[in-house]
Amino acid sequence: MRVHHLNCISSCPLGGRVMDGRTRSVLARGRLCCHCLLLEGDRSLTLVDTGFGLGDVADPGSRLSHFFLTLLRPEFREELTAVRQIERLGFAAADVSDIVLTHLDFDHAGGLDDFPGARVHMLAIERDYALQQATWLDRQRYRPQQWSTQSNWQVYDPRAGERWFGFDCVREMNGVAPEVLLVPLAGHTLGHVGVAVQVGSRWLLQAGDAYFHHREMDLERPWCTPGLRFYQTMMEQDREARLHNQERLRELKAERGGEVDIFSAHDLEEFERLSGRSARVPEEALSVESAPMR
Ligand SMILES: [Zn+2]
Repeated sequence: MRVHHLNCISSCPLGGRVMDGRTRSVLARGRLCCHCLLLEGDRSLTLVDTGFGLGDVADPGSRLSHFFLTLLRPEFREELTAVRQIERLGFAAADVSDIVLTHLDFDHAGGLDDFPGARVHMLAIERDYALQQATWLDRQRYRPQQWSTQSNWQVYDPRAGERWFGFDCVREMNGVAPEVLLVPLAGHTLGHVGVAVQVGSRWLLQAGDAYFHHREMDLERPWCTPGLRFYQTMMEQDREARLHNQERLRELKAERGGEVDIFSAHDLEEFERLSGRSARVPEEALSVESAPMR
């Protein structure tokens, strides 16, 4: 299986340096990527998270909440959507047979509508809770305007006994290659998962929004920017589970870092390390080979 790392539209949050830790000023806008994976199998493509999609680029105000548009001001450029990047790699939207979602937040599910024929895989509790639209914040983050593909959604409960490096997991998703697993990492949302992908003898773990800054995975002295700490607290649906899962991910990294490469959906440095190119690139730089797994 070949892995392509795609940044499907960065967010440019208020707070600059306070958010991302690398923008020069707190007055400038910061930058958080949206790290999606395109898994190229023998016969079909699987997409892990979708970022923002064509509909979001064309008419953000009708699909996204004004609250998050003001806070995050995403860099809406059509060539940065997953579907346009996939086309640039020489494929068609119809080649994407499956989409695996870490969770249903607007910045992960925005591209679903661009792949109307794909099966969409997630935990049952994520779908069920998102559909409830229970609180004001839920209605800002979960956007039914992005969910035209609901009839294709396939949902799962983690089954007892299925384990991956000590974590629960879902090993068999309908139609998805057996090298791709859902690893429940509740906290940011109740049905939030990481997506583990076996590449040769190693694993990638796209940990979604289980953490946001690479230094949160420091075993000795975990650290996060104040802005991202605030953002994660604001967005968490289960604080205890979130902090516990961060600790488990740190332990996994410490004990199995040689076998499992863990990364967040939004950290620029991790994106650049894994993709071998800038997260800010214009579209022509996408012809650079993905960093091979060794
Ligand atoms: Zn996110």
